[in-house]
Amino acid sequence: MADLASSEHRPDTSEARAYNRIRRRLSLADAVLGFALLLLLLATGWSQDLRDLALRLASAHYALALLVYVALLAVLAKLAGLGLDLYSFRLEHRYQLSNQKLGSWVWDEIKGMLVGLVLGGILAEAVYFILRQWPERWWLIAWGVFLALFVLFAQIAPVVLFPLFYKFTPLEDQELKDRLLRLSQRAGARVRGVYEWKLSEKSKKANAALVGLGRTRRIILADTLLAGYSADEIESILAHELGHHVHQHIPKSIVVEAGISLLGFWLAGRVLALSVARHWFASLDDFANLPLLLLVSSALSLLLMPAMNAYSRSKEREADRYALDATGRAAPFISSMNKLAEQNLAEREPAAWVEWLFHSHPAISKRIAAAENWEKRKASATD
Ligand SMILES: [Zn+2]
Repeated sequence: MADLASSEHRPDTSEARAYNRIRRRLSLADAVLGFALLLLLLATGWSQDLRDLALRLASAHYALALLVYVALLAVLAKLAGLGLDLYSFRLEHRYQLSNQKLGSWVWDEIKGMLVGLVLGGILAEAVYFILRQWPERWWLIAWGVFLALFVLFAQIAPVVLFPLFYKFTPLEDQELKDRLLRLSQRAGARVRGVYEWKLSEKSKKANAALVGLGRTRRIILADTLLAGYSADEIESILAHELGHHVHQHIPKSIVVEAGISLLGFWLAGRVLALSVARHWFASLDDFANLPLLLLVSSALSLLLMPAMNAYSRSKEREADRYALDATGRAAPFISSMNKLAEQNLAEREPAAWVEWLFHSHPAISKRIAAAENWEKRKASATD
């Protein structure tokens, strides 16, 4: 018999289940493809051929040849994954989640690749320069440089990288700005700004995020969210993002990233030394070994994914609790969760193993249940 006292239960539609299952299979296929490509390059000696080609194109200039090699690798990876990328683009359309035209998508893909090439090129040049200068302790020095670049990119991303793909304008809604100001004052924490993120040009989904570091720290709110949600619902979402800010989630993530990347660079140092000892490569600074470095970092990321997602989910729960405490109301939080689930075709109740492995956010059903419990506790405390 149905329990009339319990909240309205909304099971996942078969559409949401199918969409998310395909998305999972796509990311799995993408990961398998990435590993396969790296292994293929290493096992067949094609990486050495690619290195020789790069050296010829760059007239044997080491730094330039490395850049050419990185570019060749990027093009190869892009070509290998093109089918999956295109499928993914069409999938969003099939489920009416995207309004992006093919031309705009192709342009985004090109820009994404160029950005990746610039960032990857800078990192590769730095790592191999350090490898040549300090072959003994290269991994430790390279880790320090990586961390500095990571912090720099986290800082400039909202002002340099994101605007390459989306337009951002300062939030104009005075009522919302006042609400955020009141929330921030109560929290004793100031966020530099709230920006409207013109997501509707490309997607029908809604989203919000806290991004940036220091002077670039800001909350971004998708225009799709501003258009379809009540002021109370938006306030609850703003409060969630403010919760990430108040609880210092971005600096904390950087510290965790620092620890993991230290492990990664140490491991890369061991693997690279072993590869030279085994005569797979003539020397440490032979950049044909780059796929081996990428393999180490991809394997580590994949291995740590469940732990990283669990860490992320704990931060999301903390931000949710903050939103409930700061706004003092569960109803707008719950209705915004329901709207988000519907609009983004999210699975409210994914299988436990799916949530454990893949989800950076707790299942919507759990977030709603937590808000309902918060409400009950609040009611019993004021009785
Ligand atoms: Zn969040």
